[in-house]
Amino acid sequence: MGIDLHVHSSASDGSFSPIEIIALAEELDLGAVAITDHDTVDGVRQALAGGIPDRLQFLTGLEISASRPPSFPGSGSFHLLGYGISPDDPTLNLTLEKLQTAREQRNPRIIERLNSMGMPIDLEDVTAQGDENTLLGRPHIAKALVEKGYVTSINDAFDRFLATDKPAYVDKYRVNCDNAIEIITGAGGVPVFAHPGLLDIRQPHVFEKLIRELTAMGLRGIEALYPEHSPDQTEQYLEAASRHGLLVTGGTDFHGTIKPEIQLGSGTGNFHVPYDIYEILIEKHDASTMYN
Ligand code: AMP
Ligand code: ZN
Ligand code: FE
Ligand code: FE
Repeated sequence: MGIDLHVHSSASDGSFSPIEIIALAEELDLGAVAITDHDTVDGVRQALAGGIPDRLQFLTGLEISASRPPSFPGSGSFHLLGYGISPDDPTLNLTLEKLQTAREQRNPRIIERLNSMGMPIDLEDVTAQGDENTLLGRPHIAKALVEKGYVTSINDAFDRFLATDKPAYVDKYRVNCDNAIEIITGAGGVPVFAHPGLLDIRQPHVFEKLIRELTAMGLRGIEALYPEHSPDQTEQYLEAASRHGLLVTGGTDFHGTIKPEIQLGSGTGNFHVPYDIYEILIEKHDASTMYN
């Protein structure tokens, strides 16, 4: 039986609602699923309110974009996943509010840049890409650009305008990684280094140093199993996890139509995360913050 511990819902930039994700996970016979939206736990709340079927295990989660440790400059997305967090934790929610405000301030600035480049879109075009509970970001702006015919696809929008170092990119506030780890832990969660393969780290000793630093900050796991990881990368991350006493997690980063090539549970087709990954994760964790 497979699981998927990295899933975005319509509360962030996924195209399926939390309720639809739970239904789809059940239909696909997944053993466990976690909703891990960017900077919000609204989707987690909606999924719990909708009820979890008996056959499915549900794990609360979120994904935070953090800044890298100061001793580790470079580019690439540094994301932390938090599993089993209590969605009502006050400190966590204060941080999320700050991140949400940062997004609200950033979106109009991106739109302004696009306007000045001759692409007239407004905030309403972007808001229309989500529902009333959606925390908007670049993927929604990308969708609006597709709809207006300025780009051919979401990837095209990122490649030409929205990605880091592209002309409409605007930076946003990030939590320091030690702070993010502390906040997740404080909310009863397990902090996990998301998709390490997406960081541009070629030299093994550099990766090793990063893992050592993060572990000292309280990191508890590595998302070794991820559709975009090569077999060599997966091997490297599994080995690092075992050597540093870290948990292994895995998930597809399912976003629905925003990343149409990625399917819930199976990624591009042959991706699989075994159920025992979930069992080990909850065994090492305080069961009181686990659901179902
Ligand atoms: P934001 O949180 O607003 O900065 O947007 C980040 C999200 O945009 C990521 O989680 C991805 O879903 C998506 N994204 C980032 N870079 C790209 C890219 N190069 N192509 C397509 N989607 C991307
Ligand atoms: Zn995303
Ligand atoms: Fe991510
Ligand atoms: Fe993600």
